[in-house]
Amino acid sequence: MKKLLTLGLLVAGHWAFSQTPDPKRITLVIHGGAGTITRKNLSPEKEKAYNEALEKALKTGYKILQAGGTSLDAVEATIHVMEDSPLFNAGKGAVFTHEGKNELDAAIMDGKTMKAGAVAGVTTVRNPISAARAVMEKSEHVMMVGKGADDFAKASGLDIVDPKYFWTESRWQGLQEALKEEKVQLDHTPPKDSSGRADDLIFTEGKKFGTVGCVALDQFGNLAAGTSTGGMTNKRWGRVGDAPIIGSGTYADNATCAVSATGHGEYFIRAVVAHDIAKLMEYKGWSVKKAADEVVMRKLVASGGEGGVIALDRQGNFAMPFNSEGMYRGYIKADGSLKVEIYK
Ligand code: ASP
Repeated sequence: MKKLLTLGLLVAGHWAFSQTPDPKRITLVIHGGAGTITRKNLSPEKEKAYNEALEKALKTGYKILQAGGTSLDAVEATIHVMEDSPLFNAGKGAVFTHEGKNELDAAIMDGKTMKAGAVAGVTTVRNPISAARAVMEKSEHVMMVGKGADDFAKASGLDIVDPKYFWTESRWQGLQEALKEEKVQLDHTPPKDSSGRADDLIFTEGKKFGTVGCVALDQFGNLAAGTSTGGMTNKRWGRVGDAPIIGSGTYADNATCAVSATGHGEYFIRAVVAHDIAKLMEYKGWSVKKAADEVVMRKLVASGGEGGVIALDRQGNFAMPFNSEGMYRGYIKADGSLKVEIYK
């Protein structure tokens, strides 16, 4: 009887937490990619442009949360702003594949229901994060790839564009540099990695990655996470990174946290980064900061995985650790105070 009563109280407590809107609990955190981003290789004009774009994204999501919108809506709208900006490696401004195409990956996850949706290798969807959401909400699947995903996005009424829409001069130059480097490396140097993985071949542009991500907590205490990316410059053979892999680059669970990652995807997939952070919280009772630090600053560093994450719990505590030189990032709290940062 006592047990039943405790259970009843727990359920009622959970219900009350979820149902009573509390504007004081909203929080939104974003990243715009990690990598070798230093003051030296970012001009003051570029720095200003990034800061403005990050601020615009934060304010867009905040407005939705403040008006009582869901964390899912906030994540999607915030990511749209960054997908539509040529500054980030997502949507317009995505990097090029070896064949000179833009193949986009994205995922979204709802911490309340633990439903998730993802797309990989899409070439015609203006906002891949919305395609991921359509997979989650309008299909019985979790992940769709290639032409099928493009067709599904079209059938779902999403904004479809000519693949040329994604083209930007700077990313095109990035590919040309990568192709040159690849030639030099193939001619003169074997892959550095003893496993034979030619990891260096897909790094370019001063190792700036540029994926975008958002995690949010709404008035109802629900978490959501989303990530969108063009992947890595010079990627080949339908390569897919961690961003659309639920549990690696994207994860959300009201019981623990919401996570979005950025970095060298192969390492993040093998380490199942986002899920690992959530489970360290669940199994060990660690704080979001301790769990995120353990995975990004110790485990990933030990395996050579460069990058970072944003992670947010249900109380509004968050962490933004990265082991690269920089990470475009920012947060906005319930009172509207916001901060954007780039360097260490
Ligand atoms: N994680 C992404 C990928 O590997 C790249 C990035 O974060 O920029 O596809």
